[in-house]
Amino acid sequence: MTTRPTITLVQGDITEQHADVLVNAANSSLLGGGGVDGAIHRRGGPEILAACRDLRASHYGKGLQTGQAVATTAGRLRAEHVVHTVGPVWSRTEDRSALLASCYRESLRVASELGAWTVAFPAISTGIYGWPLDDGARIAVRTVRESASPPIIEVRFVLYDEEAYARFDEALTAWTY
Ligand code: ADP
Repeated sequence: MTTRPTITLVQGDITEQHADVLVNAANSSLLGGGGVDGAIHRRGGPEILAACRDLRASHYGKGLQTGQAVATTAGRLRAEHVVHTVGPVWSRTEDRSALLASCYRESLRVASELGAWTVAFPAISTGIYGWPLDDGARIAVRTVRESASPPIIEVRFVLYDEEAYARFDEALTAWTY
């Protein structure tokens, strides 16, 4: 039997977390932006942006596609790596939830390949990209439950405000078995 990784919730700023991997809700340019992306680059320092520029030059000339994930150094953050993933923009007319699930799954796959034990996620797409928090939380919790595997032992959701924490707490309670 495989041991399931523990899922934990924290309210706070992901750039203050200590984990093997911190996941960034990036945009496809990989060149930084607002929200959690801006905070990670500010606090992590210029080394992360330099690594992102190298990735653009070598592999992602057209940018990173929605739902994909890629790793860089974590610069000055208290982590080994930052994994950048591009969430989908919320749409009223189109179901993009498979892309949001893909962000969590691909980030975990990259983290596992890097040998990470602990991975911290923000609530991808629920800020500037407009995804409703309750649905974003359900997709996040379900996908992590389904796809986190060794060597990962802990997946931590780092929720910026009370509302996000409450929605993730509900989703986690609903999916605890
Ligand atoms: P997206 O473009 O994917 O929506 P955002 O960065 O705008 O990305 O928001 C994603 C989530 O991250 C939102 O719930 C937002 O409140 C939260 N957030 C913003 N800054 C931080 C931070 N420093 N640490 C953790 N979460 C953050």
